[in-house]
Parts: sequence; structure tokens; C-alpha cells
Amino acid sequence: MSLNAEPPWMPPPAAPLVSILMYHQVGHFLRPKAHRATYCDVGRFRLQMAWLRAWRYNVISLGDAYAGLFHSAPLPPRAVVLTFDDGCENFREHAWPILKKYSFPATLFVIAGMMGGTTTWMDTEAARETPLLDADAVRELHREGVHIGAHTLTHARLARCSPEVAHKEIEGSKVQLEELLGESVLDFCYPYGSYDMQVVDMVISAGYRLGLTCIRAAANHAQSPYELPRKAISHGDTLPGFLWKLHAKNKPKS
Ligand SMILES: [Zn+2]
Repeated sequence: MSLNAEPPWMPPPAAPLVSILMYHQVGHFLRPKAHRATYCDVGRFRLQMAWLRAWRYNVISLGDAYAGLFHSAPLPPRAVVLTFDDGCENFREHAWPILKKYSFPATLFVIAGMMGGTTTWMDTEAARETPLLDADAVRELHREGVHIGAHTLTHARLARCSPEVAHKEIEGSKVQLEELLGESVLDFCYPYGSYDMQVVDMVISAGYRLGLTCIRAAANHAQSPYELPRKAISHGDTLPGFLWKLHAKNKPKS
């Protein structure tokens, strides 16, 4: 079954593209040997945000992008959405002050069952020690204007989980974050970009409005809102690399 063929996400006419950028950690990192898309140097991040402002990209919220792509709300040209996976402490320390300076909206995907812990799913001992924001800090950031989405309870690779576990990860994270924040949590992001159609069905029935993947492309109205692509900004991305990604439309051939 193709999700694209079903209402309520019939495409509006000639909707423009949206670049949904994917960041994880922002800070000072010694040249990471692996998982380079997990790390963004804060100096480069600052430059990237300055560039977006100077050249009048329209940084919009994930909610506005959703409304524009799937519900015919107006979308500005050169629209960019900023997303940050995992809810690391370094988001608050390094990324958020820069985002505030430019009044850029951002979405933080929090692992509801790991708040206050560390990045234990990473595959080297050093990489597992990055602190995650605790519940109070997530609540405080939300109060300050950060949009919060769900990223499962335990950073689960959903396509490999049993249906029972996947269901718990997807729905449990929504319930837990809604209790913490006192409002609906509508946006979901698949850890590792791992999902299949069964997982998508669970995300829909849990009541989310969209799901973000790690497929690299610009988002457009013809896609399913539950399989939205993003563009990972990596540690190695110089400004030209960043610009190339901003303007790339399709998944490159690998
Ligand atoms: Zn993640």
C-alpha cells in the first residue's frame, strides 16, 4: 500500500521544497573518526546559522513546514527547518544560544526514557558518555520556545523490534513527554532512521502527525508525512558543503 495515495495528505498545487536539516550534537569535538554526521563543530554551526540569516533563508518551524506541505498553508521560498536528535546537553550549551540570537525555531527530538542519562547506544566507550538533558532541562527549554518531538523511549532500532516493543517505544515516548510538557507531542523521529511500514502504521495510530527519517533529500508535498527526508549536516561540512546540501533536491546515487 502506498501511503502517498491516501488522504489527508493530498498534495497542494506547486508547493515548494523544504530542507529539513538534521543535527545531533553541537560543540567542540576532536575530529571524530566515525559517525561524523553526529557531530557539528560549534564554530561551523555559528557560521551556518549566520549564513541562513544573511542570505535570507526562511527558517520555519517543523509545524509550519507540515502545514505548508500537507495542508496548503503558505510556505516561504527557501524554507529551512532545523532539527536536533537525541536531546544532548550540548544542544542547550552550544546550539540554543545561537538559535536564540537569530530567533530561529528548532525541534529537539528527545529520548523519553533516557533523560538525564548518557548516549549509551553509541558504539565506542568515549562516545557513550555524552550527557543527555534531564527532564527539568527539557521542560525549561520547551518553556523557552524549543519545540519537542519524540525519539522513542530507549533509542530503539524500531524495524528490528518486536511489534510489542516497537509499540511501547512509539506510544510510551509520546505519553511520557506529554506528561512532562503538558501539551500534545505530535512529531516523531525514527532512531537510526530505522522503520518499516508496520512501524509507520504504529506511528500513525499513536496519533503523531509526522515521522522524520534519515533519507537525504528535500521534503516535498508528494512524500508521506511519515517518511519525511532530511539532510544530515556533518562534522566535515564546510560552508560550501553546507550550501550544497541546502540546495540538493534528491537523494544522491550512492
Ligand atoms: Zn537518535
